[in-house]
Amino acid sequence: MSTLTFTDQYIGGKWIPSASATTLDVVNPATEEVLAVVPAGGAADVDAAVAAARTAARAWGATAKAERLELLGRLVAGLAAAREEIAGTVTAELGAPIGFSRSVQAGLPLGVADSYLRILADYEFEETVGHSTVLHEPVGVVAAITPWNYPLHQIVAKVVPALAAGCVVVLKPAEDTPLVARLFARLVDEAGFPPGVFNLVVGTGAAAGAALAAHPDVDAVSFTGSTAVGRLIAEEAGRGVKRVTLELGGKSACVVLPGADLSKAVTAAVANVFANSGQTCSAWTRLLVPDEHYTEALAIAAEAAAKYVPGDPAAAETRVGPLVNAKQLDRVRGYLNDAVAEGARVVVGGAQPPEDLAAGFYVRPTILADVTTDMAVAREEIFGPVISVMSFHDAEDALRIANATDYGLAGAVWAADDAEAVAFARRMDTGQIDINGGRFNLAAPFGGYKGSGIGRELGRYGLEEYLQTKSLQFRA
Ligand code: NAD
Repeated sequence: MSTLTFTDQYIGGKWIPSASATTLDVVNPATEEVLAVVPAGGAADVDAAVAAARTAARAWGATAKAERLELLGRLVAGLAAAREEIAGTVTAELGAPIGFSRSVQAGLPLGVADSYLRILADYEFEETVGHSTVLHEPVGVVAAITPWNYPLHQIVAKVVPALAAGCVVVLKPAEDTPLVARLFARLVDEAGFPPGVFNLVVGTGAAAGAALAAHPDVDAVSFTGSTAVGRLIAEEAGRGVKRVTLELGGKSACVVLPGADLSKAVTAAVANVFANSGQTCSAWTRLLVPDEHYTEALAIAAEAAAKYVPGDPAAAETRVGPLVNAKQLDRVRGYLNDAVAEGARVVVGGAQPPEDLAAGFYVRPTILADVTTDMAVAREEIFGPVISVMSFHDAEDALRIANATDYGLAGAVWAADDAEAVAFARRMDTGQIDINGGRFNLAAPFGGYKGSGIGRELGRYGLEEYLQTKSLQFRA
C-alpha cells in the first residue's frame, strides 16, 4: 500500500510548506501500516497561523450574520457531500468500524454543523437590559485542540460554533488522526471562507499544542482531551487570562434501579461502552445493578457482549475495531491485569490478545464483575471496551457509588418510570444523563461536572463559549 506524504499546513487560506522538517507517521491501527506522513509542526507554524488568524479577526468578527450563515451553509453542504470520504478516512486512521464511521463519525459532525445554521439564525447578538444594550461579541482568536476518538466531531463541535460566533480559529488536531483534519480544512477552503479565518497546524501536543495554548495572541483555548493535559492548558490560560473551555475524561455510571427493564438497560450499556472500542469520553463504563439482580445482569451482559467480536474495521459487519494505537493497547491491558490482581473477575474478554488477528491494536471487549469503588478500573478512565459491573443495596448506595469518582461527564438512569429516574438523576454529580434510554441530543449542552471539565459544547451553549459581552449604558 502506498504511503501519502504531506509537507504542508493550512495557514492564511493557503496550503503552505510547514516550517518544520520533522514528520509524524499516521498509522492504520488495524494493520499497523503507515498510511501517511504529515509534518510535525511546531512553534514557527503556530506563530504563522496565529498571525494569519489575528489579521482576519476584526473583519470576520464584523461580518453580518447572513454572510456567516451563507459560508457555514456551504461548509455543511461540503460535509454532506464528503460523508463517505470522511467515513473511510476515520476508519483508516482511527480503526472505527466503517458502519459506525458512516453513521456516527461522519454523521454526527454533519448533524452538529447543520444544527448551528438554525442556532446562528435564531441567535440575538444584541439585547436590551433596562437602559443598556448588551452586545455579544466574538472573543477573537480561538485555539482549538482536539483528540482522536471522534476526530471530526471534536473539530466541528469547536470550529463551527467559533466561526458562527465571529471568531477566527487555529486548529491543532490529534497527531493520530490528522488526515480527517486536513479533509476538514479542504472543505473550509472550498466553502470560500476568507483567508485566516480558519487555520490548521498538524503537530504533536508537546510542540504545536503547547505553543498554541501558550501563545500570547490567542484569546481563548478550547480543549478536549485528557485531564492531565487539560490541567496544563488551564494553568497556561490562567497565566494569560484567557478564556478556556475544557472537555476532559469521564467515568460515567449507568444506574439500573429496581423495577427497571434490566435486559434493555444492560444491553444498552454494553452497546454504549463497546461502540468505538470504548474510546468515548461519555461511555457508561460503570454498570450499577441491584444486589438481587447481579447474577442475572452479568448473564445478560455476557450474552450481549458475544455479538462484539473484534475484526477488520473496513468490513461492513464489524462492530468493534482495534484501539487507536499501541500505547492505548498497553494501557487498557494494564488496567485489565491490575483489576484481576485487585480481585475483579473477568466474565467475558480479558487481557490476552484476541485470536485470529495477526496485526492491529486489538483488545477483547471485556466485562468485569466484583469491581469495588477502590479499584483503579472503577475510578480511572480506561478508554477501552471495558465495563465494570458493580452491585448496590438500595438507591442511596447506588448514588454513593455513582458519585464516587473525580469525574462527572455523563451517565444513565433506568427506573420503573421517568419520574423516579429524574429524581435520582438530579442527585448525580454529572453533566448529562440519559433517562430510561433517552437519545443523544446534539442541541443539548455537553460538558462536565467536577474533573470532567469547564464550559459546555453543542447547541446555544456551545456558541456562547465563543462570545464575550459588552454593555452600553444610555442616559434614559
Ligand atoms: P490528550 O490529552 O493526550 O490529547 C488531546 C489533544 O491535546 C491532542 O491534540 C494532543 O496533541 C494535545 N496535547 C497533548 N499534550 C499537550 C500539551 N502539553 N499542550 C497542548 N496540547 C497538548 O488526549 P488523547 O489521548 O488525545 O484523548 C483521550 C482523552 O481525551 C481521554 O481522556 C478522553 O476522555 C478525553 N476526551 C474527552 C472528551 C470530552 O468531550 N470530554 C471527548 C473526547 C476525549
